[in-house]
Amino acid sequence: MAERELIADIDGVTVPTGHMIGGTWVGSPVTFESRSPLDWDGMHLADVARGDATAADAAIAAAVDGFAAWSRFTVNERAATMHTLADLIEEHNEEIAHVECLDMGFLEQSMKRRLVSRGATNFRLYADLIVEHEERHWGAKDMDNRVLRIPAGPAVVITPWNAPFMLSTWKLAPALAAGNSVIHKPAEWSPLSAALLADLANQAGFPPGAYNLVQGIGDEVGAALVADPRVRRITFTGSPPTARQIGKAAAENIVPFTAELGGKGPFLVFADADLDAAAKKAAWQFDDSGQVCLAGTRLLVEESIRDAFLECFHAHADALVLGDPREPGTDIAPMAHPDHRDRVHGFIERAQANGDSIVRGGNKVDGSLHYEPTLIEPLSNDSEVVQCEIFGPVLTLQTFTDDAEALKLANSTAYGLSSIVYTGSRERAERLGHEIRAGLIWVNTFLVRDLTAPFGGCGISGIGREGGDHALDFHADLKTVMILDGTTV
Ligand code: NAD
Repeated sequence: MAERELIADIDGVTVPTGHMIGGTWVGSPVTFESRSPLDWDGMHLADVARGDATAADAAIAAAVDGFAAWSRFTVNERAATMHTLADLIEEHNEEIAHVECLDMGFLEQSMKRRLVSRGATNFRLYADLIVEHEERHWGAKDMDNRVLRIPAGPAVVITPWNAPFMLSTWKLAPALAAGNSVIHKPAEWSPLSAALLADLANQAGFPPGAYNLVQGIGDEVGAALVADPRVRRITFTGSPPTARQIGKAAAENIVPFTAELGGKGPFLVFADADLDAAAKKAAWQFDDSGQVCLAGTRLLVEESIRDAFLECFHAHADALVLGDPREPGTDIAPMAHPDHRDRVHGFIERAQANGDSIVRGGNKVDGSLHYEPTLIEPLSNDSEVVQCEIFGPVLTLQTFTDDAEALKLANSTAYGLSSIVYTGSRERAERLGHEIRAGLIWVNTFLVRDLTAPFGGCGISGIGREGGDHALDFHADLKTVMILDGTTV
């Protein structure tokens, strides 16, 4: 790719299509195509650089140099650079929202109202945390003890195709705040908002090589990045099978690795709950076409209220508008990629063959990548649709008769990312908070949380925790220094 070819005009927004290495946009000999899920056959968005081992090597070399410079910035200088980036993100809200909508199918209004500003907030949060951080320091046994956080080195940050902009900022901000240089590898199905972000980072004043972006395919350039021994941290969000491969590479080089992975969250509704609020939130699990790791996709409803709950749930689900994600009235956008839509449909076909009962939906929508919001009553708890993450607008419905059965069903998959409980009982809320195996448990609410709280999953939903100081500790080498009292020179 020649230099002049390293941009695409997407509906009036100029988007870089190369890699950003050492502060400069560079191409690769080969490209991959980015198409829009809004019109898969008609809307070609960009030809994006398809990184290979050479691009990975160049990006890591740049990140080694960038680390030397960035890790010497004072925390106040780091924080100022990150606040500048946050300002730039806010200034470019509309462009980012529009490109993400076209590239991934995300609802444009949601992006504008919530997720672009959340991206800016992520940088501000970590800028403030790094400045506020106080070293632990105490005296004991004639000794002065100090705990220091030392920047670890170049960090590879690998992100998935769903909510690409917000998730990228969530993972990049703590790495940069900690003083590490980054090499960001976004997903090949939605690479474009990451390019806008890297462009803004370039304007924000990071030293060359502190912030690098490499585009390409996971098992090509992604695999090359995580296998390189110069990398000192790997932070990944994506699926468990990919995490297993990256974990092997991390083990080979003895590199700390966090993985934020899939979920199969239970959504429990007890008879004492506010039924309408529970049913409304349950129908809301179809949001983003169900392409949400935190979604409560297994509806577990107390037997005595099953019919009343279902009536309410259908009323809320019927009101959801499938449409163009650029339009403000749209609730459900097309799925991100035809392969993924077909994968989701494969689950439904196998469920039907298995004898599971399709209560609503279960069909592709002609002429678009939309998928009907679907509810299934499974034949048993062993059904594939109960046990496997589908990552589409597909929920299952099961009933329970008492708390013990509810808990057993809630904890019956290999996942453990999130859980949602609707109940009127504070005592039950506290008890289930302890007993449900998940990293995040919402009671009578969903998604809202304090960003300094730990975020992550149990079981095959992940390793490690993001959020607040947890991510800063991961990106640092924690060091304890003990100095004998009386040491003067
Ligand atoms: P994926 O695992 O297929 O890909 C994720 C990223 O890894 C992509 O950038 C991909 O290019 C890269 N990759 C693939 N193979 C690689 C390899 N061998 N080496 C290095 N990188 C490689 O996941 P996906 O389909 O993009 O994302 C969907 C999954 O992500 C779902 O399981 C979802 O639940 C999960 N997710 C989890 C969270 C969370 O916070 N827990 C958030 C969003 C999505």
